Amino acid sequence: MTDYDSIVIGTGQAGPALARRLAGSGMQVAIIERGRFGGTCVNTGCTPTKTLVASAYAAHVARRGADYGFATGGDVRVDMKRVKARKDYVAGLSNRGVERSLKSLENSRVYEGHARFVSPREVQVGTEILRSDRIFINVGGRAAVPEIPGLDQVEYLTNSTMMDVDFLPRHLLVLGGSYIGLEFGQMYRRFGSEVTIVEIGPRLIPREDADVSEAVAGFLGREGLTIRLGAKCLGVSKRGDEIVMRLDCREGAAEIRGSHLLIATGRRPNTDDLGLERAGVKTDSRDFIVVDNELRTNVPGIWALGDCNGRGAFTHTSWNDFEIVAANLLDGDHRRVSDRIPAYALYTDPPLGRAGMTEAEVRKSGRRALVGKIAMEDVSRAFEKGETEGFMKILVDTDTKEILGASFLGTSGDEAIHCVLDAMYAKAPYTVLQRAMHIHPTVSEFIPTILGDLAPLREPASQRSAAA
Ligand SMILES: Cc1cc2nc3c(=O)[nH]c(=O)nc-3n(C[C@H](O)[C@H](O)[C@H](O)COP(=O)(O)OP(=O)(O)OC[C@H]3O[C@@H](n4cnc5c(N)ncnc54)[C@H](O)[C@@H]3O)c2cc1C
Repeated sequence: MTDYDSIVIGTGQAGPALARRLAGSGMQVAIIERGRFGGTCVNTGCTPTKTLVASAYAAHVARRGADYGFATGGDVRVDMKRVKARKDYVAGLSNRGVERSLKSLENSRVYEGHARFVSPREVQVGTEILRSDRIFINVGGRAAVPEIPGLDQVEYLTNSTMMDVDFLPRHLLVLGGSYIGLEFGQMYRRFGSEVTIVEIGPRLIPREDADVSEAVAGFLGREGLTIRLGAKCLGVSKRGDEIVMRLDCREGAAEIRGSHLLIATGRRPNTDDLGLERAGVKTDSRDFIVVDNELRTNVPGIWALGDCNGRGAFTHTSWNDFEIVAANLLDGDHRRVSDRIPAYALYTDPPLGRAGMTEAEVRKSGRRALVGKIAMEDVSRAFEKGETEGFMKILVDTDTKEILGASFLGTSGDEAIHCVLDAMYAKAPYTVLQRAMHIHPTVSEFIPTILGDLAPLREPASQRSAAA
């Protein structure tokens, strides 16, 4: 048995940074990784997908050459081997960077293998038992594969296996019309595949406001993706070299066919084979590790950070978890999960930048609110770029004047949203942003304009007429 001051399980977004801080404070740290260093974001999530999105965007712009006044000299064809090589190069840099930095970290040792608790203070890796009074779990998650009749009889792809694709699927069926499914769907359509998205709900990305879902469905449809809403997958089977999906739906064909199938129906935490029961660490009904506001589990001396605690599902939430734990443990700075404001992006083109509450959440909260919205068609920067899909919407509390939330669906929406997000962190009244002088021509210059033209958030027309 080897004793350590701290053990970090998993090298996702929180683990490596925390290991560096702990080792830097003089502690002896064991770091355990069973797969690829850097975890999901670096190897099968953000970095590779956004690199692929960039290739898809370039192909899209090249095809629109005539709109900008140039010709490409023929059809734009994508070489998937080169697209994959570019993705591998970019992701590989990050992966090797994390590995190198951890293996050269002073006061620490890296163990490569699957970690399992054998007691609240002991973790087994291979044949070794490591002991510590402080154990940090950063094991992340993986694609959740639903139980669908026939799925075990066909070859299907997940976000992980999509990383090995170096060919163009003739027709990609995507099961799941949310963030991951839409990013892959649009990207493969732009690479040249036929794409059908199958979503069980009545609209895409159901967590977003209906106007966002409609706008996203609109521009994806105009790019030639087929979107099947309210369609429940009843089963899949192989017919010749095709995958056949049977659907329970009110509209459209009850059977669709494609050459490949991507399952994008959500994520599940990697907590099932971690020996948590031997440590007495509690999980919830969806297998996420239960943590308090400072990311402590129910067992003293064990913390859970990142996707495995169910308090966030993003690289920045995992990184923020690291900051919270490090601040509380090493800096005497009392930071909590509840201090953060929900924020994320969807990397379709145009992207969706989100901060705070949706309009639906504001309505549900029952507070008096104001709303401002502008179409990207009316944003000069978007018009100049020839990228006018989407809109920007901001919600404000009528009484406190604080910004409650925003959805920026449009070119640079993923960047411009930070103006609003930072004002929310500053708890500044919206009038501060309204009076700010922003740079022309930018997407952000219209934030003061939107805030200068707020109107009361009224009940939806359907509810007004029902009440009347
Ligand atoms: C396709 C896709 C696109 C995404 N795009 C974005 C995006 O654009 N922006 C964004 O913010 N987020 C995005 N995400 C989410 C983001 O990748 C994750 O939220 C992020 O990686 C946080 O992960 P983590 O720190 O919890 O752990 P992870 O990155 O999942 O890492 C966990 C690590 O723990 C290791 N591990 C697991 N179990 C054990 C064990 N028992 N023993 C030893 N090691 C173990 C794993 O091998 C892995 O390396 C995306 C995700 C996907 C799937």
